[in-house]
Amino acid sequence: MTEPSPRFDFGRNLAARSGVAVGIAILLLLASLGLAIHNERQARIQFDQQLAVRAHILANSVTAALAFDDRQTAQGYFDALRTDPQIAAAGAYDGEGRLFAGFALPGATLPPARTVFVSSPEEGRRAITVPVTQNGTRLGSVYLSAATEPWTSRTSRYVGIGLILLMAALLVAGLGSSYASATAANRRLQDEMEARREAEEALRQAQKMEAMGQLTGGVAHDFNNLLMVASSGLELLERVQEPERRERVKQGIRQAIDRGAKLTQQLLTFARRSPVNPEVIDLGGRVAALRDMLDRSLREDIRVEIDMPDGLWPVEVDVAQLEVALLNIALNARDAMPEGGTIHIAARNQPGGTTGRDQLCLTVRDEGAGMAPHLVVKAFEPFFTTKGVGRGTGLGLSQVYGFARSSGGTALIESEEGKGTTVTILLPRSFKQPVQPVPEPVVEASARKTRNAVLLVEDDSHVAELLVDMLDELGYSADWKLNAADALAALESGVRPDLLLSDMVMPGAMNGLDLARTVRRKWPDMPVLLMTGYSAAASAVAREDIELLTKPYRMEQLREKLDALLR
Ligand code: ADP
Ligand code: MG
Repeated sequence: MTEPSPRFDFGRNLAARSGVAVGIAILLLLASLGLAIHNERQARIQFDQQLAVRAHILANSVTAALAFDDRQTAQGYFDALRTDPQIAAAGAYDGEGRLFAGFALPGATLPPARTVFVSSPEEGRRAITVPVTQNGTRLGSVYLSAATEPWTSRTSRYVGIGLILLMAALLVAGLGSSYASATAANRRLQDEMEARREAEEALRQAQKMEAMGQLTGGVAHDFNNLLMVASSGLELLERVQEPERRERVKQGIRQAIDRGAKLTQQLLTFARRSPVNPEVIDLGGRVAALRDMLDRSLREDIRVEIDMPDGLWPVEVDVAQLEVALLNIALNARDAMPEGGTIHIAARNQPGGTTGRDQLCLTVRDEGAGMAPHLVVKAFEPFFTTKGVGRGTGLGLSQVYGFARSSGGTALIESEEGKGTTVTILLPRSFKQPVQPVPEPVVEASARKTRNAVLLVEDDSHVAELLVDMLDELGYSADWKLNAADALAALESGVRPDLLLSDMVMPGAMNGLDLARTVRRKWPDMPVLLMTGYSAAASAVAREDIELLTKPYRMEQLREKLDALLR
């Protein structure tokens, strides 16, 4: 990165901007100081000019009196002048410079004779002397002294103006620096918002990848099964002649390929940033179809119970978002039940009554650790997580809430410490006709009576279907059970197969390995063969000295194993 750190930039910027503001303030003060000096000078010149004009008028007025030596008339002019408060002293002098008429206020003096034209006779006064002439003859002169503005009032005026200027300068400096810090704060806020947006985006992707990760393990397992169905199916086709059976095998292969395509599509739905695409759906059917995905994403010690009554109102939602929301809630439930447990998914119609807002209520309940009341209120907040770094993103429930809101409904959470948690999604009832998902054809399992009996335990019905056919072809009759508990129940009730053939990874409390151990303990003579596509599971089986077949396998390999075990 070549960009400087925002913090450093911010500090330098602030200093630079407030420096500029202080500079402007100083310049303002200097300029007004210069202006004041200039004004002062201009005022003095103007004062002198005005004084000169008045002196000339006075000179003109007393010309006749001087010419006729009429002191009384002259004194009359000067007495009239007395009323002007500005004039401190005024006098007329004859040709010899002797005082002819005039006056001087207390504190001012009339000079005995005038020679100087402009002067400052006393502090705060200016004086001027102008000649009195008639037809080019100098008759005498006139002296006029006037008070300039007192020093104190001038100073106080300038101090007042100075203070106003100082305040203005301070204001400019203050505004400048607060503008600078506001700009810097704004920039920092923008940086933070940008960083947060990026982090949000990254976390959203991380959350999706977490969900992807949950799916991948199960999907790899599923793909293995599908590959097995396809490859063994092809093998069977080469051997089997009966048209009816060939048709069934072909159908099995086709279904396996379809399922593979659907799985890929499901993964793609998760991975891509798909636009929101609301569809009118029958929630019951869609949620039931999610069981596969949920089973695949959760641990084996987590059971999923789905209770979707008939006659649920249709809702209009984005199915991909609904799936992610349910997965997020189920993952939280899984995390809250480290010892295993059951997740109950249920839905019911909730009539709006007088409000007229009919809603569909979808609840997911777990029997896990629950949450303290002060945490419940935060659960929907984005980024709120109590899980460690790398384990939680805090985006799961915010996605759930976002989904509910964007579908016109809402989401609620109730939780009690030690008791469990219920997340409710309320969705508005839709009055449109739901689109029907294409139903999958079901292939019937059939048991055939032949020489050796095999008890087959396999949770994947497609794989089981095919295995039954393969065993039949190899000369075995197969009794198929969906899980370990069903198989054990059959054995307990007295069913005695020649061999137990079981998948390793299965939902429910007991997996294939547990089943094999139990059977070994209770019926030590019964041969057991396990199948798995997981290498980790395979090494566990090898340690226990149990026979294992790794998926996908060829029919020939199955035959060899069975023969060896039954010999
Ligand atoms: P994350 O799972 O990444 O932590 P979520 O938004 O899914 O983020 O959940 C936020 C927090 O809410 C979790 O960290 C957890 O503390 C709490 N929580 C959510 N669901 C449950 C639940 N079913 N049981 C107990 N606590 C839960
Ligand atoms: Mg979560």
